[in-house]
Amino acid sequence: MLETVQIPALSDNYVYLLHDADSGRTAVVDPPEAEPVVAELERRGWSLDWILNTHHHWDHVGANLALKRLTGCQVAGFRGDARRIPGIDRMLAGGDRFELGASVAQVLEVPGHTLGHIAYWFGEADLLCCGDTLFSLGCGRLFEGTAAQMWESLCKLRALPDATQVCCAHEYTLKNARFALTIEPDYPPLLERARQVEALRTQGLPTVPSLLGEEKITNPFLRADDPDLQARLHMRGSPAVAVFAELRRRRDRF
Ligand code: ZN
Ligand code: FE
Repeated sequence: MLETVQIPALSDNYVYLLHDADSGRTAVVDPPEAEPVVAELERRGWSLDWILNTHHHWDHVGANLALKRLTGCQVAGFRGDARRIPGIDRMLAGGDRFELGASVAQVLEVPGHTLGHIAYWFGEADLLCCGDTLFSLGCGRLFEGTAAQMWESLCKLRALPDATQVCCAHEYTLKNARFALTIEPDYPPLLERARQVEALRTQGLPTVPSLLGEEKITNPFLRADDPDLQARLHMRGSPAVAVFAELRRRRDRF
């Protein structure tokens, strides 16, 4: 059994504690600051074994060294980005298995936001820690990779089961929903989703994690090959990569 705890950090980051109940092993995903993580660990009486990093940005690795010092934990991250991940101990690459006690994550390489971005998929727990690759109703900006790389990465994530909980690293959903509505203003599943998101945010509640099955239906960035969405952009029959690139360009300006 894998227990998860979502911890808000900075202004709009989410950090996840993952606790394998049988072994007592605990990991934290992408901590930018140590204090809220340590407070939550103490509240639950858990000791930290691992930091799992998805990519090198400061708002994901900022607390690596402090948490290592405070807890004696180790750091896992992408092999190819080892020099950009402070305190890395365990080098991972696509296809690797990461074991947190009996809970096993498959490591997926998902470049685009950065070239060395990875995701952790705990298949048995239906949990995906995807950093800044896939967001609820959105996706990460292309800081280092190309649209083709990001589209391929998103297709990799889209292939996972519908029941997968998407534990992304930012609360960007409301702005993403408003953007998605500029593309498909009368798409019923999106309208319904946008209503739910507005209601949650009005109450100050998180919209994350979301279900991958819902993302597949409503997230425009997972639907660049959908003829209905393509028609909205007057790009029917265009290559999915070109449609994805157009969506990303529009979102960058939104
Ligand atoms: Zn990032
Ligand atoms: Fe980020």
